[in-house]
Amino acid sequence: MRRPIVAGNWKMHGSRAFVSELLAGIKEGVTACEGVEVIVCPPFVYLDQAASLLEGARVALGAQNLCQVSGQGAYTGEISCDMLRDMGAGHVIVGHSERRNIYGESDALVAEKAIVAAAAGLTPILCVGELLEERESGQTEQVVGRQLDALLQREEGAAALEKSVIAYEPVWAIGTGRTATPEQAQEVHAYIRQRLAQISQNLADGARILYGGSVKPGNAAELFGMADIDGGLIGGASLKAGDFLAICRAAAS
Ligand code: PEP
Repeated sequence: MRRPIVAGNWKMHGSRAFVSELLAGIKEGVTACEGVEVIVCPPFVYLDQAASLLEGARVALGAQNLCQVSGQGAYTGEISCDMLRDMGAGHVIVGHSERRNIYGESDALVAEKAIVAAAAGLTPILCVGELLEERESGQTEQVVGRQLDALLQREEGAAALEKSVIAYEPVWAIGTGRTATPEQAQEVHAYIRQRLAQISQNLADGARILYGGSVKPGNAAELFGMADIDGGLIGGASLKAGDFLAICRAAAS
């Protein structure tokens, strides 16, 4: 039995006041989400504030990105895995489609980030997913397979994947209000699990694979009810405590 996860990706949203208010709301309602691992991923600059506010709460803290180089050094504007640990983060989103498509992160760079994060004791939330034109031209499995292979081809890849959570996020469904149908999502989740089974059946059975892409309180239960969907990575709806908690409750039921 895989424990469901609901993770909120706040992206570049927030202020000190917003963080206080949102986390107060989430803390109040999270007790009704028994059995679900709840994670919030604020922008870097609010991690410290969020860690203080979440002390003692059943809500874990994650970051949205990290530098592929660990330790310290001349990497202007970057944040290392050690710094994230120091701030109290236990998870980090790696390879979100916005990082891949706006900032040009390659499959190889994403793989490196996942390896570095896992080696530092962080849980990578590894995002994979196809663009609309890739889906429409029947390349979904090829793209997702290639993104996973970038990690699996590395010597440390399987070990990093064992410590990771995978998020399948069709790019055409992110922030668009256009959700994959539960069947469309399930098909890709099953494909990912089958791909992992080629490495090890244990890895495949234990891997938690989240769906992300316009998950809302109204569609969460149906998506989470599919056999290979183990929760969600939530963007827009994670910015409203009521909506986020409703999605967490859907994962609990
Ligand atoms: C995301 O950015 O990971 C995401 C799934 O966003 P949204 O829920 O807003 O589509």
